[in-house]
Amino acid sequence: MGKPTGFLQFERQDPPKRPVEERVHDYQEIEERLPVRALETQAARCMDCGVPFCHSFGCPVRNLIPDFNDMVYKRQWQRALDLLHATNNLPEVTGRVCPAPCEAACTLAINQPPVSIKQIELQIIERGFERGWVQPEPAPVKSGKKVAIIGSGPTGLAAAQQLARQGHEVVVFEKADRVGGILRYGIPDFKLEKWVIDRRLEQLRAEGVVFETNVEAGLDVSPRYLRRTFDAILIAAGARVPRDLKIPGRDLDGVHFAMRYLTQQNRRNAEKDTRCLLCEAPGGPFRQKTAGVFFRDGDDAIHAAGKNVVVIGGGDTGADCIGTARRQGAKEIVQIELLPEPPRDRPSDNPWPTWPRTIRSSTSHEEGCERLWSIGAKEFIGEDGRLTGLRCVKLEWADGSFSEVPGSEFTIKAELALLAMGFIRVEHGPLIEHFGLEVSDRGALKVGANHMTTAPGVFAAGDSVLGASLVVRAIALGREAAAAIGRFLRP
Ligand SMILES: Cc1cc2nc3c(=O)[nH]c(=O)nc-3n(C[C@H](O)[C@H](O)[C@H](O)COP(=O)(O)OP(=O)(O)OC[C@H]3O[C@@H](n4cnc5c(N)ncnc54)[C@H](O)[C@@H]3O)c2cc1C
Ligand code: SF4
Repeated sequence: MGKPTGFLQFERQDPPKRPVEERVHDYQEIEERLPVRALETQAARCMDCGVPFCHSFGCPVRNLIPDFNDMVYKRQWQRALDLLHATNNLPEVTGRVCPAPCEAACTLAINQPPVSIKQIELQIIERGFERGWVQPEPAPVKSGKKVAIIGSGPTGLAAAQQLARQGHEVVVFEKADRVGGILRYGIPDFKLEKWVIDRRLEQLRAEGVVFETNVEAGLDVSPRYLRRTFDAILIAAGARVPRDLKIPGRDLDGVHFAMRYLTQQNRRNAEKDTRCLLCEAPGGPFRQKTAGVFFRDGDDAIHAAGKNVVVIGGGDTGADCIGTARRQGAKEIVQIELLPEPPRDRPSDNPWPTWPRTIRSSTSHEEGCERLWSIGAKEFIGEDGRLTGLRCVKLEWADGSFSEVPGSEFTIKAELALLAMGFIRVEHGPLIEHFGLEVSDRGALKVGANHMTTAPGVFAAGDSVLGASLVVRAIALGREAAAAIGRFLRP
C-alpha cells in the first residue's frame, strides 16, 4: 500500500471533459487525461483493504487493481502495465468505455467517492504505448494447431491474442469490412476513437493473428471447410438481433434500429479522411456534409440534421444515439423509457458492493435532451409514408408491472425515431444450424463449463453466450475460452 493515509488526505479528481459547445461539433473523444502527478495522487487513495472487492467482485477480468494502484503511486509505471496486461488484453478500451463496476465495489465507495480505477487503468496503458513498452509478444514455440475465430469484437480479439501467444495459428473471420465488432461499428467515436483499435491490431498481427474481413462464416466459408481446416473453432459472433417495437406505423420512413444509425456515423467518420468528393464529383455518391466533413451516403442514409428525434430506450445505446444526433444537428431530442426513473441513491435492497441501480447520466445527456420515464409507445404517426410523431402514454408501475394512466396520451413530434431497446440474441445463421448447436430459451448459445458448445471442438464466448453485455465481460469470456481451447488442443 503506497500511502496509508492517502484516502483521508486526497479527494477524488476526475479527468476534465471538453466543453459541450466545443465537442458537439466533432466526433473526437470527450474526456481528457489527468496530469501524471495528479493521477499518482489518485492512486494513493487506494486503501489496499483486506478484501479488494474491486478486483474479486467488481471487475469481470479480475484486474489486479490494488497492486497497480500501489505501483502507480510509487511511479513504477512499467510494472503496473505488466500487471494490467496480465488480466486484460484491451485496457485502452475498458479504460475508455467500461462502466467500471470495480468502482461501484471499491471499499471507499461505502461512504466516499471511489478510487478513480478506470482512469488509472487508462493512463497506465496510454503511457505504455507512449513510451514504447507495448510490443508484440509472439509465441517462442509454435504448436502446429490451427484455430478459427468467428467474429472480431472484444471476445474474438482477446481470445485471438491469448491463443496466438499459446503458439497456435489463429485466423479471425469477420463479416464486416473492418475488424472490431461493436467497438468499431456501434460505439460512437466520441467515446472510443477507432485509431485505438487499429493500434492494438498492429500488435495482434505482429503476433501472427490473421484477420479475414468481409467473410461471413457459414456462407463465404462453409462449416465443413472450417471443420476440415481448423483444430478448434470459437464462435464470438455477438448478440446482434435487435429488439423490435411492433406497434402501428413501424414501417414508416424515419423509424430505424439504433445500430444501423450508429454504424452509419462510424463509417462516415472512418471515411472522413478521403478527399472532398462533393466538389470533385457533383451528383456522385458523396453528397452529405456534417461538421465540415464530406462523407459517402446512399439513399438509405439515416441522418438527424434539422429533425426532431425520439430515442426509444433509456439505456446506453440510446444515450449513444443522443450524442450522435446532437452532433448531426438535430433540432430536439427526446428519450423515452418504459421503466420508472431510478432513484438518486442506492435503495436498501441494492447495497454496496453490488452494481447501483441508480440514475446515470452520460456525456450525451449533458449535451442536451429531454428524458421521459414510465412512458409507453403506442403508435408511430406519419404523413405520406413518412414519420411525423410518436403517440405515447404515461405508465403507472406497481409490484413490477405497469398499467396505462387513463387520459394521459400525448404525442412527441419526431421525423426520426431510433429503436434502442436492446438486443435479443445471437443470429441463428447457417453456422449454428450446420453444427446443430443447442441454444437456451433466450436463444443464446449453450456451452459447458469448458466453454465448448454441444458440438465437439466448437467453442463459444462473449455476447453470443451471455446475451448483450459489456466489453469487459466479453474480454473475460474470450480469455477463458482461449484457455479452455488451449487445454483441448494440448496433446
Ligand atoms: C451501441 C452500443 C454501445 C455500447 N457501448 C458499450 C460501452 O460503452 N461499454 C461497454 O462495456 N459495452 C458497451 N456495449 C456492449 C459491448 O459493445 C458488447 O457487449 C461487446 O462488443 C460484445 O463483444 P462480442 O465480441 O461478444 O460481440 P460483438 O462486438 O458484437 O462482435 C461480434 C462480431 O462478430 C461478427 N460476426 C457475427 N457473425 C459472423 C459470421 N457468421 N461470420 C463472421 N463474422 C461474424 C460481427 O460482424 C461482429 O463484428 C455497447 C453495445 C452497443 C450495441
Ligand atoms: S476493466 Fe472495467 S471493471 Fe475492470 S478495472 Fe477496468 S474499469 Fe474497472
